[in-house]
Amino acid sequence: MTTSAARADVRTLQTDVLVIGGGPAGCWAAWRAAQSGARVVLADKGYVGTSGATAPSGTGVWYVPPEAEAREAALASREVLGGHLADRGWGERVLDQTYANLEQVAQWGYPFPVDEAGRQRRTSLQGPEYMKLMRKVVKQAGVKILDQSPALQLLLGDEGAVVGAEGVSRQGDAAWQVRAGAVVLATGGCAFLSNALGCNVLTGDGYLLAAESGAELSGMEFSNAYGLSPAFSSVTKSAFYRWATFRYEDGSVIDGAGSKHGRSIIARHLEAGTQVYALLDLANDDDRRYARSAQPNFFLSFDRVGIDPFTQQFPVTLRLEGTVRGTGGLRLVDAGCATTVRGLYAAGDAATRELICGGFTGGGSHNAAWATSSGYWAGEAAARFALGEGAGAHARSAIAAGGATQSGGRVLDARELTRAVQHEVQPYSKNLFRSGAGLTHSLTQLDGYWRTLRQSAPALDPATRQHEREAAAMLATARWMYRSALARTETRGMHKRLDHAAQDPAQQHYIHSGGLDQVWTRSHRAPWHQAAQPAEVAA
Ligand SMILES: Cc1cc2nc3c(=O)[nH]c(=O)nc-3n(C[C@H](O)[C@H](O)[C@H](O)COP(=O)(O)OP(=O)(O)OC[C@H]3O[C@@H](n4cnc5c(N)ncnc54)[C@H](O)[C@@H]3O)c2cc1C
Repeated sequence: MTTSAARADVRTLQTDVLVIGGGPAGCWAAWRAAQSGARVVLADKGYVGTSGATAPSGTGVWYVPPEAEAREAALASREVLGGHLADRGWGERVLDQTYANLEQVAQWGYPFPVDEAGRQRRTSLQGPEYMKLMRKVVKQAGVKILDQSPALQLLLGDEGAVVGAEGVSRQGDAAWQVRAGAVVLATGGCAFLSNALGCNVLTGDGYLLAAESGAELSGMEFSNAYGLSPAFSSVTKSAFYRWATFRYEDGSVIDGAGSKHGRSIIARHLEAGTQVYALLDLANDDDRRYARSAQPNFFLSFDRVGIDPFTQQFPVTLRLEGTVRGTGGLRLVDAGCATTVRGLYAAGDAATRELICGGFTGGGSHNAAWATSSGYWAGEAAARFALGEGAGAHARSAIAAGGATQSGGRVLDARELTRAVQHEVQPYSKNLFRSGAGLTHSLTQLDGYWRTLRQSAPALDPATRQHEREAAAMLATARWMYRSALARTETRGMHKRLDHAAQDPAQQHYIHSGGLDQVWTRSHRAPWHQAAQPAEVAA
């Protein structure tokens, strides 16, 4: 760790709340913090409104009217799939907050489609429209936006509280430092640069930043989501594959590939070098018309290569989406989405979503509901905390926490390290189909890379430094993932162990993790309310 003073070559800002990451979670956090009376800075690696997993896609939302029967069905729907790790108290809060937030989105003028009875259909949002609107309302609320400004490390005050962050600008060489009373991490998940649409900015940066400050994670074993996509495209929107038959090159149907366990069958074929094809031939005429209007960008890559996916089979692959459509992330300790570190809050995919969907999410609308709700709560709580700290917070000395990854003298090749990490996390044989022996072998490799990283010197040039930090974040994420996966000696949610194929009732617990040089795991009894009721711990 190094002492961080305001330097002449660094653009320095002071604010009450700094939000890092400007997807839906970060935008809601920034807006709510500003509404709560705080001055807010929002920094994103890309351009707020177009960056992240939501921005390029249509997104289903867990929007359920407050009717007892509908709510009960919604809460029950994921309990089995999620391995009974979801918490009803959090589920109810998220349903209430999402309902209220989408009313707000309607009032802001989002063009929801209308059904035959004239009611708005609020169960889905077009990412580009939604995020354009969020940028507009965030700006109108007075939030200062730093586009193309990845955060590289957090700043810690004397007593270990987070008091800001530092980063670089991707447009020009300027570095930035924001001193803040509280920080919200909304940096999304980690998809390991697998080229899934919208995901290549999602390299687990927030996990690393937080862990370097002492924060803990939870559910990192639920991190092996793979999205179906055409082999020639990055689009992993998979809802329309419900109309697919999966085939061999000669057009014969692959047994079971369209079933509940179809992903595993497809993965096994791909792993063996057999190309799998899909044909959306189960869609009727109405489905085909609806599909084009609901997800126009699903068709872009087909149009480009002149394939009609309803009548011509096309090659598919499975792209790693990691924790983006997994559920693990930073551990929360109260209803305001505080992490285990004072002054640090987390929202959206950066935070664990086990609380509402246990060990499984898929595309399935819970993520969008979680992003808007947790963003809202984190922004509100961060504002309250920062305003409570008072103006003196900025005068305190600060330590840059990011030195934990690199302290030696050798030069690191970030691309090589990224490829090495991908080699351990992308193959289906290692991450989708897990085993104790396989995980242990990968961890030996990954721990070795970590030691090498710790002996290298940080680059001076900002762009290289950013890539180094991304590689370090992916490496750290892989180690928390696999240590957690090793600790869960059963199959539950999306976590599948070949050597422990059944769910074990004795393991209905969360697995917390953390640490850098020494990665640790610890089990914690689920569900959450056995430890603390959200309502009781609300500040
Ligand atoms: C193909 C696909 C389809 C999906 N469909 C659905 C669906 O239908 N329903 C659903 O509920 N969910 C869906 N999801 C999941 C959903 O998109 C995410 O849960 C959601 O985007 C999370 O929002 P977020 O704000 O936490 O993260 P993101 O939207 O990913 O935004 C994170 C932001 O953080 C920024 N960032 C990252 N690192 C840094 C850094 N170091 N410094 C500054 N900024 C940083 C990124 O640039 C990005 O803008 C889908 C995901 C994918 C990939």
